[in-house]
Amino acid sequence: MNKTIWIIANWKSNKNISEALEWISQVGPHISKDDNLKVVVCPTFTDLSEVKKTITVGNFPIMVGSQNLSPFGTGAYTGEESAPILNQLINLAILGHSERRQNFGETDEMVAKKVEQALVNNITPLVCVQSAETPVPQGCKLIAYEPVFAIGTGNPDTSENANQVAESLKEKNGSGLEVLYGGSVTADNVSAFVSQPNISGVLIGKASLDAEGFVKICQQVSEKI
Ligand code: PEP
Repeated sequence: MNKTIWIIANWKSNKNISEALEWISQVGPHISKDDNLKVVVCPTFTDLSEVKKTITVGNFPIMVGSQNLSPFGTGAYTGEESAPILNQLINLAILGHSERRQNFGETDEMVAKKVEQALVNNITPLVCVQSAETPVPQGCKLIAYEPVFAIGTGNPDTSENANQVAESLKEKNGSGLEVLYGGSVTADNVSAFVSQPNISGVLIGKASLDAEGFVKICQQVSEKI
């Protein structure tokens, strides 16, 4: 296939530190070292430091990401996790996830500010869009098309429709954009999504929690690269 494929695990509010480290020790040795495969794990903020350390010590080909970050820099912003501090631990941040938009009132404007913070602090922003109409903030080169009906429901979009949406997003926002698909991805359907010409990988919630299942997904993708 000869394209770079991203596999991004979004653990949401799951796994304490010991559970997180157990997952890393089970998954890490099974991920192939391949320049065309980019595997990222996005734990809770409290797991980040230990997860990063364990991946570094094991020399595993896994990057670390966060599930959010502050729209502000350092300073008087109680309770926020700011990009200039996070960048010692993470390579990427998931921004604008539909759960944040729905449950925490996150707006397109807030997402754009977070993208700005990520970019000036050398963190790759991965913005979740819910359709081809969701605005893609300036400077953002990596997005995930995640239709709300497909998230955590076991009812994924078809790979053909996801490919069409990805194509529209590229037409609108520039062909340099990498578009991932997210929504009920499993080991059984991942190959269909990553085989689509406009899809550059997957963002995985529920199916990323089980180490064995996640390894299976990575192996399926490796066979396609
Ligand atoms: C997600 O929340 O980003 C997601 C894709 O979840 P799930 O894989 O569980 O549908």
